[in-house]
Amino acid sequence: MMPLTLSYTSSSRALICLSFLVSSVPLNSSIRGVQSCRWLRGKNDTRRATRRKPLGIDHPRGAAQVIPVREDDDNEGEYRRLRGEVERHDELYYGDEPAPEISDQEYDGLVGRVMAMEMRHPEWVMASGKRGISESVGHAHSHLRSPLSPTQSNPSSQISSATLTRSRTTKFPQVQHSVPMLSLMNTYSIEDVEAFVKRVEKAAVSARDAVTELENSSTISFVAELKVDGVALALKWNDAGELQQAITRGNGSEGEDVTENVLAGAIQGLPSSITIGPAEVRGEVFISKRDFALLNQAAGELNSFSNPRNAAAGSLKLLDPNLVASRRLSFLAYDLMMARPVTGDSPQRSSSFDSPSSQAEALSILREQGFLPMPEWAVCHFCSDILEFVQKIKSSRANLPFEIDGIVVKVNERGTQRLMGSTSKFPRWAVAFKFAADFGTTRLSDIIFQVSRNGIITPVASLEPVAIGGARITRATLHNFAEIERLGLQSGDLVVVERSGDVIPKIIAVEGSVGDKTHSKIPNSCPVCNSTLEWDGNASGRTTLRCMNRLGCAAQAHGRLVHFASKAAMDISHVGPAVVSKLIDRGLVSEPADFYRLKEETLISHVEGFKEKSARRLVTSITSSRGTRPLWRFLVALGIPGIGQVASQQLATFVAKHWERFPTGLGEEPEWIENVQRMGPKTARAVFDFFSDRGVIQTIDSLLAVGVAPVLPSSHSNENITDVAEWNEGSRIYPENQSGSLRGLRIVISGEIGFGLTRKDIVVKVKELGGRVTDTVSKRTDFVVSNLDRDSAKLRRARELGIRVVTPEELQKLLGSA
Ligand SMILES: [Zn+2]
Repeated sequence: MMPLTLSYTSSSRALICLSFLVSSVPLNSSIRGVQSCRWLRGKNDTRRATRRKPLGIDHPRGAAQVIPVREDDDNEGEYRRLRGEVERHDELYYGDEPAPEISDQEYDGLVGRVMAMEMRHPEWVMASGKRGISESVGHAHSHLRSPLSPTQSNPSSQISSATLTRSRTTKFPQVQHSVPMLSLMNTYSIEDVEAFVKRVEKAAVSARDAVTELENSSTISFVAELKVDGVALALKWNDAGELQQAITRGNGSEGEDVTENVLAGAIQGLPSSITIGPAEVRGEVFISKRDFALLNQAAGELNSFSNPRNAAAGSLKLLDPNLVASRRLSFLAYDLMMARPVTGDSPQRSSSFDSPSSQAEALSILREQGFLPMPEWAVCHFCSDILEFVQKIKSSRANLPFEIDGIVVKVNERGTQRLMGSTSKFPRWAVAFKFAADFGTTRLSDIIFQVSRNGIITPVASLEPVAIGGARITRATLHNFAEIERLGLQSGDLVVVERSGDVIPKIIAVEGSVGDKTHSKIPNSCPVCNSTLEWDGNASGRTTLRCMNRLGCAAQAHGRLVHFASKAAMDISHVGPAVVSKLIDRGLVSEPADFYRLKEETLISHVEGFKEKSARRLVTSITSSRGTRPLWRFLVALGIPGIGQVASQQLATFVAKHWERFPTGLGEEPEWIENVQRMGPKTARAVFDFFSDRGVIQTIDSLLAVGVAPVLPSSHSNENITDVAEWNEGSRIYPENQSGSLRGLRIVISGEIGFGLTRKDIVVKVKELGGRVTDTVSKRTDFVVSNLDRDSAKLRRARELGIRVVTPEELQKLLGSA
């Protein structure tokens, strides 16, 4: 019998193995600028740190510890405080509405410090009556025991995982994973990747003598692939090839059953059925960069998410499955376990639920089955190949359609994977190389307060310019007032700023405080209109400070006008924040309808910077939006709280039916709620309230009066939605039809199809099912339909690009199965 194959997940925030922490995190005191700060206070640390030179391939400040280590490593109170911090951050990270306050790297640093303290003082762990942090940290790992933990032999550590996860109440049933979903060991240096490669080679050589399976394979190869910053999910498909169950990673051995949400969620990159069932597919649920921007842009800041990962995690656990589809989730598969062999030549494999012979094979089968293909991956034979791949991805990272936080390197051959096995936490045959964030230290010159179109006051840090990771940084996000409180920020403080990938820079620590605590951090009145502010709760329960002067506040008016013309809404070119400011200053625009009253002459004579050509251009683009924009865009433009593009499309269907009496004739509240139930009762009520507002009714009336005539959705076309899909082309990730079996797929037809179907019939049919027929074969094509016996340029191109070719019969089946 073969040993059980443990699987893994590349989800973020895996535990750091203690030995790795102690031996391989480079010291970097320059960031903290405080000489007494040391990474770890073990007696060998300084020697280790100085011997280990930073790698050119990574940012030299790479794995810097950002929680300063002070003179209190022997302070038990400090130990307890930090332990509490770890637990708090776990809650924030793994909670039902995830809202982490610190980066993964910061978290890893914090955990590292606590673990180091536990090493020095195992008695503290005993005294606390809890398990050592090295064992219990992270809900995902809470049941797993560390072989390195100083508390492993401590009887008090025998606490069931149920105890550790008890605080998480959920409506989703808990389900046991067929094979544990382990984390990957995180590394931040290339040297650790090199060490990993050596370990694998050594293990394989020593195993080869004993085990026959490897006799034929004299080489070991690796697969390097992208580490998507998403949420791990296991999908079970039955023998009919239907998706049967979707389980979150949970604590690794047991996750939550989110099947209903996955089925309702129109998740891109998930085929409607597969031909290799029964099988289990694992991967990451994520939101592409573009979709995330759209989601936040359209949702408004009340409901906005701090990053795509949180948005994806929160979306999977929405209580209303219908709402999940509006979150634009995608799925990238990276693991496949099958019950029957691919070729049928290996009876051994068929019993192990593990049949692809290599990771490369698994990736190509997944692609053939219609899963979103891994955009970049490579089979590597030497360590240098891996380094080359890392370099390539680092330099092209910004062009990827989704956020990644590193590279995963796996042993390619599953036989070798099995031989190497796993520790209790990690597979020994894989490692995650995480991209380190860049840091810089600068002075906080001021905290400024921005007022959004909904009146929400957002604090922003104004910084003395500093170069971080090649960019000049002058602003950093502060999220909310609690964040200022947490950091104890004061103008003049020396602060550590983190910049990671495309994420907006953020302040993560105060390095030197000016100590002047007299200045109040929370404004008493609106910084723009000076009216009083009120606290209110937002979606995740955190309090928000808001300017209540909705109509009179210039900042809100400016925000609403900019939003109205924005790409997400009426999509009027040349009307950005600067132009809107000028128009407001000149008294030309105060409500959206005023845009349509602008005249070229007035612009030229009254507004600085406008000449004949620019004035005409502006007026033309405004005018052309008058009668051409679909109703859903008009609804987005009105800025209904909590309503993004997808919800607007649903809403448009209902509004269109009552268009004659719009906006006052949308029915009484109960009828309304009934009709727009798909949005969820809470949202439906908010929308009802919005349309009951006198100011809103007046805004709409004025717009209709100046001739704005939205295009109403026709009864059975997908025109409106396709519009979004085209706009969203760059990321390739948006369903044109939320429920169709061909959703989001791009299909190219080569030659005749037969079956009495004309090309036009097929185009229409495919569109109905949510797909699209395009003319040219490109990397984005999902499959090409062709009579294989006839050669064509399209077919040759498809073969070159490795794109799946289906026969007309297969297409017929796909179209017929709707
Ligand atoms: Zn105001």
